Amino acid sequence: MSGFDTILVADWSAGRAGPRRPSKDSIWLGLNREGREEEPIYCRSRIEAEARIADLIATEQAAGRRLLATFDFPFGYPKGFARIVTGADDPLTLWDWLEARIEDSETGENNRFDVASAMNRLFDGPGPFWGKPDRDLWPDVPYRKEGITFYPGAERRTCDHAAKAASSCFQLFYNPTVGSQVLMGLPVLSRLRRLPGVAVWPFEPWADAPVVLAEVWPGLIEPAVKAVPKDEIRDRVQVRLLAQALARLPEGELHAMMTNLPPEAAEEAWILGAGHRERLTELARDLAPPPLRNDCFALPPGVDWTPVDAALATLRARLVPVTGVEEADVTEASGRILAGPVTARRANPPAANSAVDGYGFAGPAPEGAVEMPLAPGRAAAGAPFNGALPQGHALRILTGAILPDGVDTVVLDEDVTAASDRIAFRGPLKRGANTRKAGEDVAEGAPVLEAGRSLTPADLALLTALGVARVELRARLRVAVVSTGDELAEPGESDAPHRIYDANRPMLLSLIDRWGMTPVDMGRVADDRDALRDRLDAAATQADAVLTSGGASAGDEDHVSALLRDSGALNQWRIAMKPGRPLALGLWSGRPVFGLPGNPVAALVCALIFARPALLTLAGAGWAEPQGFDVPAGFEKRKKPGRREYLRARIREGRAEVFASEGSGRISGLSWAEGLVELGDGAAHIRPGDSVRFLPWGAFGLG
Ligand code: AMP
Ligand code: MG
Repeated sequence: MSGFDTILVADWSAGRAGPRRPSKDSIWLGLNREGREEEPIYCRSRIEAEARIADLIATEQAAGRRLLATFDFPFGYPKGFARIVTGADDPLTLWDWLEARIEDSETGENNRFDVASAMNRLFDGPGPFWGKPDRDLWPDVPYRKEGITFYPGAERRTCDHAAKAASSCFQLFYNPTVGSQVLMGLPVLSRLRRLPGVAVWPFEPWADAPVVLAEVWPGLIEPAVKAVPKDEIRDRVQVRLLAQALARLPEGELHAMMTNLPPEAAEEAWILGAGHRERLTELARDLAPPPLRNDCFALPPGVDWTPVDAALATLRARLVPVTGVEEADVTEASGRILAGPVTARRANPPAANSAVDGYGFAGPAPEGAVEMPLAPGRAAAGAPFNGALPQGHALRILTGAILPDGVDTVVLDEDVTAASDRIAFRGPLKRGANTRKAGEDVAEGAPVLEAGRSLTPADLALLTALGVARVELRARLRVAVVSTGDELAEPGESDAPHRIYDANRPMLLSLIDRWGMTPVDMGRVADDRDALRDRLDAAATQADAVLTSGGASAGDEDHVSALLRDSGALNQWRIAMKPGRPLALGLWSGRPVFGLPGNPVAALVCALIFARPALLTLAGAGWAEPQGFDVPAGFEKRKKPGRREYLRARIREGRAEVFASEGSGRISGLSWAEGLVELGDGAAHIRPGDSVRFLPWGAFGLG
């Protein structure tokens, strides 16, 4: 079975024809084709809508696109209703029954209250249909709900409860009502379902149908609809966002929502997505992520030196993902970030099979010598044994082969003496020995990976084994890198002793690449405010976030902080940490800018400690805590209170040794090191053998 290429969401209506100009009355059709949203279509009448949908059913099939056509009214009534009206439980018989009686017209005038009256006469007592525009008309339809028992069925279906839908299909008037939509919608569906290629979910086999009709309910994505500005037409927004949400559901997740239904669904129908309100709402939200707030880097006021943990907590609380969502083949997804959770499309293993090469039989085998006649044929992986093995016989079976009927236990090759027509071995052997149960690793529909997961090679194996071929990924975060300073040059450009080669840029670009983001090289700028302003403008259009190095303090030539201050978005972070000078953080045209110190040692440590978790959060991967471990120190050091220290370190013979010099200009120490030793904020006197925390480069995604 494949997923759907085109999603239609119809917002149905029961009333008269709507005005010529698109309005909230009448019918809206939302369309999403191959992940792209089309302009919603406005239909003045049901007759016009039916013609358009019939057209769509034909054109999508002709183009080889699989269509999921959804409608926002119940496809069935509560259990027991259909039998009283038609004499059969089959909901589709009821569809035919209604189709034969309901009359509709271009103007929308219709006979739905007469048909409801006729049905009410089939039930004892008042109802079940109730509600009408005129107290004096249709005596068989009560004006109010009082006194209606809905016996022998219920007022609402199982799926209405699951979806927490308040409206009832028996209420024909007063908002919120769907009762009239059902009466005026099912006859249309009844005709559409007879078109070639069309199947009705969940009443008919739909898995291979080119067109599937399904029930939906826009109430499931209400928070997303509410978030849209009020001046838009609500029905139009609903169909657009619900079509988007369904189109963005990974195939496996949609499949899981369409299967595993309770038995009532066979008669009452089911609301697609019932019970998945949060997930659908998330997918329905307009793709442009919310902008970061201008004060997102504001630290608590009045604090002179901010502890590292307080600074990290601020970033963690204020930053949100800024990347969009795209779909890709699993084979392209290594190192990419999952945008939503993934569930298993298929169990692993899909069927019970043999864990070894050997002989299969119906277990258990008793203690002592066992002999069995050997049946002809064999079962191998990819070549199942067709037929059933007679009781008391054994069959040749190879690793991975599906257990044929009559086999639930396998004896290992090495334990067997085999002749051409018999085998012998020593028992006992428990029933099920040397076999793998279906789904023993992962059950169908089970959640497997969470949103925010950065996919590993093993994840690609897992997803593929579970039948997941396409995944929803975060777009890669684009991170611009700018170096600042009059003294900077490229190697080979100048040997003048006052020129320093720009060491930070290749280092930072490489970090970004290692973190699975897209580095955007914005070159170097001199200490010139106008030039830097232009460069930041360019960076803000080409990237989602910006890393600068140099010029982040408060001196004359510290133009990064000066510019951010001018734009009103500077937050000078004085972090109680060594190495590290002030960091300049702010928003430039809405893009977060991380102004790192110029000194390469400080630039690297600040990038690892602050920029990495911040960028990963912006990228949609969630907050990342570097995982270190405690090792005995191989050095002695006295440390003052009031700041955290990161020492360039490596492990030799089970001890952490630190670089000979703590000088922050010593770039060679960064290369010598294999990680950092982290010393807490308080005073300390570390002696050899004391336990210290070591953070290997791997803890920062640099393994
Ligand atoms: P700043 O933060 O601009 O005051 O620079 C601090 C120190 O880092 C100065 O000695 C700079 O020359 C040096 N520095 C700044 N940027 C770089 C860079 N991209 N590569 C190497 N050293 C740098
Ligand atoms: Mg400088």
